[in-house]
Amino acid sequence: MSAAGFMWDPRVAMHIYRDDHPLKPVRLVGVHDTLERLGAFGRPDAHVLAPRAATGAEIERIHDPEYISAVMRASRDPDSDYTAWGMSEWGDTPPFKGMHDVSLLTTGGTLVAMEEVIGGRLHVAFNGSGGLHHAMRRSASGFCIYNDPAIVCGLLADRGMKVAYVDIDAHHGDGVQVAFYETDQVLTISLHQYGFVPELGRMFFPGTGTAEERGRSRGAGYSINVALPRYTDDAAYTRAFDAVVPPLLERYRPDVLVTQQGIDSHFEDPLTQLMVSTRAREHVVRQFATTTSPWVAMGGGGYSLDAVRRAWSMEFLIMLGANIPKELHDAEPPEWTGVRRAQVDAAVDVAITGALDAAWT
Ligand SMILES: [Zn+2]
Repeated sequence: MSAAGFMWDPRVAMHIYRDDHPLKPVRLVGVHDTLERLGAFGRPDAHVLAPRAATGAEIERIHDPEYISAVMRASRDPDSDYTAWGMSEWGDTPPFKGMHDVSLLTTGGTLVAMEEVIGGRLHVAFNGSGGLHHAMRRSASGFCIYNDPAIVCGLLADRGMKVAYVDIDAHHGDGVQVAFYETDQVLTISLHQYGFVPELGRMFFPGTGTAEERGRSRGAGYSINVALPRYTDDAAYTRAFDAVVPPLLERYRPDVLVTQQGIDSHFEDPLTQLMVSTRAREHVVRQFATTTSPWVAMGGGGYSLDAVRRAWSMEFLIMLGANIPKELHDAEPPEWTGVRRAQVDAAVDVAITGALDAAWT
């Protein structure tokens, strides 16, 4: 079955974190309009889905009620001080009017996606407004308010399902990892940039995600991190993905696949130093699409609006089993040679070995 759902509601593309903020929800309009222009939604297997508001009980699967109350207050009165809850006016996650309500919808979109695929009506459903993987139990973080991937993985685990969560955002999926660090019922695999960034004078955000973070007690070996060096290009990225993800999914045999498909790993992205193109992404998402399990797919980071538009359009076409028009691909993906090739490959070898050695046996 190739039936694929695309979550759409203009209300999740209208909010503004702050005028100068890199996360621009309006980016989703470009994805929707591109797919519409390409005729994707007219295909028999395509289903346009509408999100619902997540319930309080669903949000509380991951978040503390006191934090939810703080987000509700910030949503009504963004000018007060919420720094204790990870929100600040000039920080990564500013309070803004209506933030609670729109976050219930972005989370609810992922919940509808889950319900559609678990109910067997669709093989996969994609919520581009979700994938907010940094939010913590009592804190907003890294542009993320409610952690929809963790909420969905938790609710699926509560149903007794074995959940595989694969996060291909450029940043470590720290909030999801933390939520399931001591259980073997949710396998988390994150491929991300890791290390010091000389231009910024600090560690790449969020600063976690080494192979040594492998889970604890029953969860030991079920948190997998592929810590990639900056400048990882398509050749190195696909090598790392192929070495780690398909073999571990094969070994784990999940009941459901949950993917966070942040596209801030793209070489045009202004916030990261990974050098991935639509070619590597096509390879990776085609691999996801081979799963026979129900598949919940989300967006995530992505700060080059054109890369977001082309990549997520392409990725939904892959979910549909449709052809990919050339216009969606990068014309000239970067590819290293010489010394940098050798440096990147050596560091990626270390990342692969570390991730495989960390896994349960
Ligand atoms: Zn990211």
